[in-house]
Amino acid sequence: MTYENLQLNESKSQSLGWIEVTGGQQIRYDEFVRKLFKLNAACGDLMHAAIGICGEAGELGDAIKKHVVYNKELDRTNVVEELGDLRFYMQAMQNLLGISEQEVLQHNACKLMVRYEGLEYSDAAAQARADKVGD
Ligand SMILES: [Mg+2]
Repeated sequence: MTYENLQLNESKSQSLGWIEVTGGQQIRYDEFVRKLFKLNAACGDLMHAAIGICGEAGELGDAIKKHVVYNKELDRTNVVEELGDLRFYMQAMQNLLGISEQEVLQHNACKLMVRYEGLEYSDAAAQARADKVGD
């Protein structure tokens, strides 16, 4: 499977990303982010989402650094929080560009299936990056 013949299955994506909100109601996560993401940021909406992704990735990295480098106990709650913050901005960018969760997951899977034949990781395949040949 290649990027070009990527087949999306939107019905499967319907089951992705439902969250429970106040009152026990369920809402799709993309709609939740659509309600909360501030539009018309001075820097532009896409830049707002991109900077948000970068900032939250840094916060996640810092949480892991404190554990790995400073030998602090891993603050799992903080890791979950930062992953959620990161996910929020990723969803905001997806919303702005009309990219579904299924498209993101399938595209990534297609790329990695080219890189890792037979779904087997190897350092050699990681270094060869077969999916990038010809780019
Ligand atoms: Mg954060």
